[in-house]
Amino acid sequence: MIPENIRGVKERIRLAAGKIGKNDRDITLVCVTKTVDVPRIEEALAAGVTDIGENYVQAAEIKFKAIEYRAKWHLIGHLQTNKVKEAVRMFDLIHSVDSLKLAEEISKRSAGLLDPKKVLIEVKTSEEATKYGVLPEQALPLIEKIAVLPHIKVMGLMTMAPFTENPEDSRPYFERLKKLSLLILTKRIRNVDMRYLSMGMTQDFEVAIEEGANIIRIGHAIFGG
Ligand SMILES: *Cc1c(COP(=O)(O)O)cnc(C)c1O
Repeated sequence: MIPENIRGVKERIRLAAGKIGKNDRDITLVCVTKTVDVPRIEEALAAGVTDIGENYVQAAEIKFKAIEYRAKWHLIGHLQTNKVKEAVRMFDLIHSVDSLKLAEEISKRSAGLLDPKKVLIEVKTSEEATKYGVLPEQALPLIEKIAVLPHIKVMGLMTMAPFTENPEDSRPYFERLKKLSLLILTKRIRNVDMRYLSMGMTQDFEVAIEEGANIIRIGHAIFGG
């Protein structure tokens, strides 16, 4: 069932990308495994999944021990400063930076790594979706402050739309994030790359792709439940 689901999701990604004249190879499918055990993650990897998303550092550590660097790891949930040390070791991309304090800790703890730690800024484009994330108007000032830190690199933005049955409901939030990324791009801030827009989940990933997402985070459509 997992391989079929992955095939189905990939086909839907291809169709959504095609609709806006984009290549599906330019869209990264992050397979969200927060409710999934190692054997089922192995099934997903065998079926061609390359990127894994986890919400909690501690839960991810157990799975990381089994899977290690056979996948790229994405931290998509809120990160507490006391978990940063473990997080920077495991995760290739941290999607949930929403404060200078957290960014400073990530930079400090990444000093011994080969490369600056890649992060996305989580933006609260809606009031209901999550209590985390910076307000859109705070994103630019925060990014300007993070840009001068030595061992961290902002690579784009992430957002969540509120829960909905109708994917079209998410479009305004995704449009907002895309607009914000374009605005930040025009500022040409040193050490800031607006390469990634992480938006779209099972409920709304096709709409997200239409609005410019190049990282989508999918759990239920792959693992059911
Ligand atoms: C759980 C989760 C997802 C995946 O949601 P699904 O509805 O299972 O596709 C994506 N992003 C975040 C931040 C999540 O917590």
